[in-house]
Amino acid sequence: MAFALKKLAASVAVTSSILLLAGCSSMGQSGASQTADTVFMGGPIYTLDSTNRVVEALAIKNGAIIGVGSEQDLAKLIDSETSVVDLDGKTLMPGLVDAHMHPMAGGEQLNTCSLNYAPLSVDQVIAKITACVEESNEQDPTRWLKVGGWYRQAMTPAGADLNADILDRIPTDRPIYVFGSDFHSLVTNTAALKAAGIDSATPSPEGGLIEKDAQGNPTGIFLDSAMWALTAHVPPLPDAEEKQKNLNDMHMAVNAISAQGVTTILDAAAREATVEAFSQLAEQGQLTVRAHLAPNFGPERLDDPASIIAEVKGLADTYNLQNTASQPGIQVNTVKVFMDGVIQAPAQTAAMMAPYLHNTGTSDHPEWSDSDNHGKLYVSEDTLSNAMMAFSDAGFNVHMHTDGDRAVHTALNSLETLKANRPDSTLRPALAHCEVMVPEDYARFAELNALPVISFQWGKPAQDTIDTVKDYMGEERFNYVETAGKFAEEDVKIVYGSDWPVDALNEWFAMEVALTRMNENATEPKYQGRLGDDPGLDIQTVLRAFTINAAYSLNMDDKVGSLEVGKFADMIIIDRDLLNTPSDQVSETKVLKTYLGGREVYTAASM
Ligand SMILES: [Zn+2]
Repeated sequence: MAFALKKLAASVAVTSSILLLAGCSSMGQSGASQTADTVFMGGPIYTLDSTNRVVEALAIKNGAIIGVGSEQDLAKLIDSETSVVDLDGKTLMPGLVDAHMHPMAGGEQLNTCSLNYAPLSVDQVIAKITACVEESNEQDPTRWLKVGGWYRQAMTPAGADLNADILDRIPTDRPIYVFGSDFHSLVTNTAALKAAGIDSATPSPEGGLIEKDAQGNPTGIFLDSAMWALTAHVPPLPDAEEKQKNLNDMHMAVNAISAQGVTTILDAAAREATVEAFSQLAEQGQLTVRAHLAPNFGPERLDDPASIIAEVKGLADTYNLQNTASQPGIQVNTVKVFMDGVIQAPAQTAAMMAPYLHNTGTSDHPEWSDSDNHGKLYVSEDTLSNAMMAFSDAGFNVHMHTDGDRAVHTALNSLETLKANRPDSTLRPALAHCEVMVPEDYARFAELNALPVISFQWGKPAQDTIDTVKDYMGEERFNYVETAGKFAEEDVKIVYGSDWPVDALNEWFAMEVALTRMNENATEPKYQGRLGDDPGLDIQTVLRAFTINAAYSLNMDDKVGSLEVGKFADMIIIDRDLLNTPSDQVSETKVLKTYLGGREVYTAASM
């Protein structure tokens, strides 16, 4: 062959300059005379096509894939102008698609004071937040300090917790509020309680709790809707400052996303501010991910789907940006609906068929029996069915938060109604989380073309599954908690979504847990071993959930999610062959390069 193979590391500069030039040349050339801008070979290439073919070589031109096959097959696409990248034994695969995340909140967490999901003692928390106060050098005592990433359930020693008195040890007059990493708990200092005017007389709002001590005074702990009642008192930033902050947070987010090897995402609870930030990044040429955005509507809005449709159309008209091979698009065409809350104690707001259990004994001699709490269904089946038909007619997709088995069941019932009334509907309904299931419902997903969007990293023994769920579910029902493998047994198309920043963004850890269902750092016996009796997933199923299935859920499977001729060259090079890697080493995978439409958008520092 008349070309020189370039080793991966050495070829970086050459490859990017050629791709840049290619961007200026005429588009859409085809036919026998076509030659590639770049050809990749020298390592396994996972296509994730319908047969999961692994090939030797891949050719791209103008940001799209023009050849996939053996080195011999693709030799004809190479001429003297073609850059040939030698993978040097590394693996090339489709860029990951993360079908449920909250990028601006994630970026904010990276940009601001964070406890980083670490298991911390009270003293460590105080030291970390004190350091943030000193670092920020903010002199205005009315400026609230926001802190994220508090792993409340994992504080040390076991049972340790925060409250306003403890946070008052931090030397500042500023109000401080600290978000639990699961976004279901929040704790403030006394200055924040005062600034918000919350005292013993303030009632807890519907769907939330302002915790009070024995004397009836607020402790500083806020749960669920009470959190938002509190944050409503945080003075807004001046408009320009707010916009700049959003842009900085989103910029931080897309950099983190590219570094993880993710090339397409769904923002699963978008606001106009997030869409605007994506749009500005695109204008500045700094958007390095294809962004799908699902604006979120409260249950009270679903009675009037026409008003939702009008609002989503308005956002789409203003912000939609077509995806091309070389340009990441922005798509607003999905409606996000919350069907319920979460299954974890103490919130237990997820809607359940059977009640949560509660302990009527003592902690030493527990006696678990039915409580009268079934959680809460935020939207009725009729309302959802009608809304779903309206969204389908308008050409929108629906992404539902369905945590409890009753929320899942109700959404599936509505999909049956949709199917009966709109047999030609092209809706690709996503049911996010599905943290607990009734056994009969797995098969219904396949029948109704419903897509479970699962955060695989939750399927392991940890505080969120053992301490706050297991006993409250009871032994039998607990086997239906975080069950990706049971979906696979029914041939359901499983989709991955990280839900970042509920956890730190670590797609490769999530991939490992999908295989092992184990907690890597389990020191306590209760966190050791596999979670429940779910068989987990095999690596091919996991890879499809992270790529082509997630792309399908976003209606992007004709463009991304697999490496096939005609698709965008959204690809990553990783340091290992996952098909031949022990399951417990998958989380150590390093992304070496991320390409979006053939353009390098991330290169590992060690390259
Ligand atoms: Zn979410």
